[in-house]
Amino acid sequence: MLDPFGRDAKSIVREFGGIEALLRRIAKYVDIKNVLKRVEVLDMGELPEDVVNMRDHDDVLTFYALLGALAFSPYGIEMELVRRSNARIYRERIKRSGRVSGLTIPLEPTKPSDIPERDRMILEKTLHGEIGEEERKRHRLKYRIKLSSFLRLWEGSLKDLYIRKGYAYLTEDQALKLWEKAFERNLERSVNLLYEIRDELPGYYEELYERLSELARERFKERLGKFSGEAQPLRFELFPPCVKEALKGVPSGLRNYAITVLLTSFLSYARVCPNPPRKNIRIRDCINDLGVIENEILPVIIEAGNRCKPPLFEDQPHEIKNIWYHLGFGLTDKPSLEDSGNSTWYFPPNCDKIRANAPQLCKPDRHCRSIKNPLTYYLRRLYLENRSKERRKEEGGGENG
Ligand code: SF4
Repeated sequence: MLDPFGRDAKSIVREFGGIEALLRRIAKYVDIKNVLKRVEVLDMGELPEDVVNMRDHDDVLTFYALLGALAFSPYGIEMELVRRSNARIYRERIKRSGRVSGLTIPLEPTKPSDIPERDRMILEKTLHGEIGEEERKRHRLKYRIKLSSFLRLWEGSLKDLYIRKGYAYLTEDQALKLWEKAFERNLERSVNLLYEIRDELPGYYEELYERLSELARERFKERLGKFSGEAQPLRFELFPPCVKEALKGVPSGLRNYAITVLLTSFLSYARVCPNPPRKNIRIRDCINDLGVIENEILPVIIEAGNRCKPPLFEDQPHEIKNIWYHLGFGLTDKPSLEDSGNSTWYFPPNCDKIRANAPQLCKPDRHCRSIKNPLTYYLRRLYLENRSKERRKEEGGGENG
C-alpha cells in the first residue's frame, strides 16, 4: 500500500463497511503491539522489511487503528509521532516502487516529449560530466502535476520550479514532499472527523492512545517540552475567529450565546484541559484550586460581557450564575472546587452549531479548513506553532527530525 488515503486504501475501508465499522473490527482483531510497531520505526536507521512490505489489509488496519487513537488527542505529540513515522514508511514504499498511480495527489511520470531538450539539459545538468549518477538522479524532473493541484498544497517558493504549459515538473524529492503535505492534510481531516465520535469508539482506542502517548513523551521529552495537549497560559492571538468576535462584545440578541455558551466553554477548556480524554470530565479532574478560573478566565468573560451592547452583566446580573453553571458548578455565584460536577461542564459547541445559532460569529479563516470545533482550531494553531519553532531550532541547531 503506497498511500493510506489513496484509492486502494479507500476500497479496503469500503470493504469493511466504512470507517466506523472498520474501527470496530480493528478493536476486535488487531494486536496493539502490531500497531505500535509502526511508530517505533521513526528513529531506526533502516526500516524493518516486515513494516515496509506489510500486506495491504494489515497496513490499512494498523494505520487506521492509529487514527482511532489520535481521536483522543488531535494535535498533540502523539499526532506528531504518528505523522512522522508513517510518512517515513510510505515515502520509502513510494520510492522503492517508483510508482505514483493511486496516490492522493495526481502525479504523473514525465515523458521525454514533455520537456524541450534544451531545458532538460540545463535543469537536469545532463552535460555536466563531473556529476555522478546519484546526483544526476536527484536533478531529474521525474514527475509532473497540474499547476492547480500543485498550488493547493505547495507552500514553498516557486522560484526554483520548472513550470510549463500548466504543469509543475518535480524531482523525486519535491514530489515526495508534496505527497507528504497531502498526507498530513488527510491525516488531520480524518482525525477531526473521528474526534466527533471518540466517545463511541471501543475502549481499545483509549488504551492504544495511552500506549502511544507514553512512546511520544519518551520520544519528544527534551525537544517539545510543553506541547499543545498540556494546559498552558491562553494564547489569544491563536484563538479562532468566532471566539475573537465574541471577545469583542456582541449585540443583545447574541450575548448569551457568544458569552455564556461559546466563550465560557472555549476559554475554560482551552486553559484548563485543552485535550480532554472524554466529554464528561469535571474541572476538578484538571485543577486543584479555583485560582485559574477566578483570575484568568472569569475576568476575560466579564470584560467581553461588558463590551456587549448593552453590557451583559449590567443588564442580567444573574447571568454570572449561569457562567458557573456552564463551568459545571451548578447554579451558584460562590462555588468551591468540590461543587465542580454539580452540572455538566459544557464543551465548546461544534462549528455547525455555531453557524446555525450565531452565524454572525463564524468568519472562517484559512485555519478553519477541516476544523469541526473551535477548540481543535486552537489546538491546531498551537501544534503548528510548536512545529515551526522545532523546525527553526533544527535548522539552527542541526538536530535530526
Ligand atoms: S469555522 Fe468554526 S472555528 Fe472557524 S470561525 Fe467558524 S465556528 Fe469558528
